[in-house]
Amino acid sequence: MNVCYEQPPYRPPTEAYSLLVRVTRNCSWNRCEFCSMYKDAKLELRPVAEVKEDIRAMKMEADAIKEWAWKNGYGDRVGTVARANGLHWLNDGVVKHVFIADSNSIIMKTEDLAEIVRFLYETFPTLERVTSYARAKTLVKKTPEELKMLREAGLTRLHVGLETGDEELLKIIQKGATPDEMILGGRKALQAGFELSEYIMPGLGGQEKWEQHARGTARVLNEINPHFIRLRTLFVVPGTPLAERYERGEFSRQTIEGLLKEVRLLIEELSVSSDFVVSDHIANRYMWGIDGKPSLDKERMLKAVDDLIAAAKESDERYPVYSGL
Ligand code: SF4
Repeated sequence: MNVCYEQPPYRPPTEAYSLLVRVTRNCSWNRCEFCSMYKDAKLELRPVAEVKEDIRAMKMEADAIKEWAWKNGYGDRVGTVARANGLHWLNDGVVKHVFIADSNSIIMKTEDLAEIVRFLYETFPTLERVTSYARAKTLVKKTPEELKMLREAGLTRLHVGLETGDEELLKIIQKGATPDEMILGGRKALQAGFELSEYIMPGLGGQEKWEQHARGTARVLNEINPHFIRLRTLFVVPGTPLAERYERGEFSRQTIEGLLKEVRLLIEELSVSSDFVVSDHIANRYMWGIDGKPSLDKERMLKAVDDLIAAAKESDERYPVYSGL
């Protein structure tokens, strides 16, 4: 069987077993200093009819895999057959999770996105979760009614790149949102009933601005109180404005010990009921073992960081990774 549908180039680590549905292409902002993901590519909003065609093709593919599995005696192991064919989104034998791509699909007309999300549930009645990346600034611009419409259509979780809560650093990295906008965007998402995941980027302040980075980020997170706080490693990618700043000697990479001190300070300052998640990104290799709920596990998490700091004193590695080296 020949089915054809478009796939996005990126997804969050938590969506490894989700069906990836490309609703927009590229990024509506494309200016963050560290980001190389969609450089030189313009935002495109895909027509609703085209996206629905993709979803129908995905359904045909899922049905074909199920039929083959039953015919060949693997009926109770559809997921195994699907994985063997590279369809990780059918890992459970049915579609449970969808991730809507690319980087800020909520920018499209609210009615159009809601229509696509509803169509997903009609096509895959086993669906439990539909998630998307969202820029805080776009959340600020959407009305509460629009956000509610998306939530009621079945969009359940939003991943927001906060990166830092420090005002100066947000400007330097050209995130395109102030701390107040980050707070407002996050709160609006929560008020509309979304599960909210905020991503932060240790190391972004380098060796000079690490303390304000940690304190500012904790302050904004405390104001938002998202469901999840996720750390993702900063890579300095050649060709990005951050790499150019690094090459000019204007950005200093953190030591691993410095990075861990920064994460320690952040945890100390947090006063949230969120889950603090480190372990879902393979690149956070200096920080294993400090996941937890700061409201319940702060002492254990701080002890884990202290152990890592003691080990890091032996290391002369630098952070963040410079991927050109
Ligand atoms: S909003 Fe996301 S995808 Fe767009 S430039 Fe910033 S980090 Fe990259």
